[in-house]
Amino acid sequence: MDLLEKHRGIAERHARMLAMGVNAVGVTNEQMISPTRAIIDGRETILAGTNNYMGITFDADCIAAGKQALEDFGTGTTGSRIANGSFALHTQLEREFAQFLNRKHCIVFTTGYQANLGMMSGLAGPRDTIYLDADSHSSIYDGCTLSGAKLVRFRHNDAADLDKRLTRGEGEEGGKLVVLEGIYSMLGDRAPLSDFIEVKKKHGFQLLVDEAHSFGVLGDHGRGLADEAGLEDDIDFVVGTFSKSVGAIGGFGAGNHPLFEYLRYAMRPYMFTASSSPASVATSLAAIRKLAAEPQRRQRLRENSARLFDGFRALGLDMGCGQVSPVIAVKCPDEPSTIAMWNALLKSGVYVNIALPPGTPNKLCLLRCSVSAAHSDADIDRIIELFGSVVAQGHGKQAVNA
Ligand code: PMP
Repeated sequence: MDLLEKHRGIAERHARMLAMGVNAVGVTNEQMISPTRAIIDGRETILAGTNNYMGITFDADCIAAGKQALEDFGTGTTGSRIANGSFALHTQLEREFAQFLNRKHCIVFTTGYQANLGMMSGLAGPRDTIYLDADSHSSIYDGCTLSGAKLVRFRHNDAADLDKRLTRGEGEEGGKLVVLEGIYSMLGDRAPLSDFIEVKKKHGFQLLVDEAHSFGVLGDHGRGLADEAGLEDDIDFVVGTFSKSVGAIGGFGAGNHPLFEYLRYAMRPYMFTASSSPASVATSLAAIRKLAAEPQRRQRLRENSARLFDGFRALGLDMGCGQVSPVIAVKCPDEPSTIAMWNALLKSGVYVNIALPPGTPNKLCLLRCSVSAAHSDADIDRIIELFGSVVAQGHGKQAVNA
């Protein structure tokens, strides 16, 4: 039997997409002009689907730090920190980042995906149970698989459903880990943290929050949803990524547990992969200093997000979430019309993410925008205008004339 035959369905779906225009899941940025502009298909395009929340990717100080690290430490680490040792930059980043997070311990990973794989499989083992919000990111599901723990899914953002499932699991052996996200990546909604913490007080599990999309964005210090909610003391472990607000590549896990440091010797996605490159670590460090020193970036992001949200609401678009966040998704009727609208938007000069099942909650078809602090008012207004001409006309209909 041909092993690749099982992917025939994917090939057919992809061919249908290509027949409608560009490859929506394989766009090439031919040239990057700024955090919010690229040349795509020969055209200058506004980028509204990059997760570049702070717009920090072209920051002169971050670039200088990355260049210096290349000079000082070379292009790569050529192995894992366990096998090859750390570079001084890794430990400096962990030290400073722990301070930023106000946590005793921080471990950096090569990507955010690996941070979830590592933390979840380090924390939970085959005798334990992991309770996951049904809308959890794939890296959280994969972390759960790697851990070998029993998986229990609860309804999205539903603390009462978690309570019910924990009650059912009472008396079972092993530890219990509950995993939430600060801002959910597809619809931009937030976990109702205080409700979950009530359940935590009742059942006594350990709680991990993935702040991938909320780190840098929410809270007085930019530490995420728990910072915003004033509930950091109730969160045992925080996970996140350097690939969004920090504008680099990498991930982190942090906590105060006295045994936390020993996770380094228990997490295969930390032990058996090359540590992040000097340039990535140095740009992350420089960016975190910037985020700490420049809270106005967060303020600007809030204003931009509200402007886009209000503009879409005025157009009557069906958004996945009633809360303003930098993730703003527009619900579309079906896959062909979503692809057609996505194409029309790109042709008119705006790039957003296309998000289709199975990667979306409740099998939704979405045009997902992520707002940046680097967008100008004119950028946001242009995005609204283009959605107005393309999506509002096609919304609710089978397809749009692209
Ligand atoms: N967690 C969440 C919630 C995410 O959305 C993502 C990436 N989109 C990750 C983790 C993985 O981060 P990275 O891209 O750094 O691997």
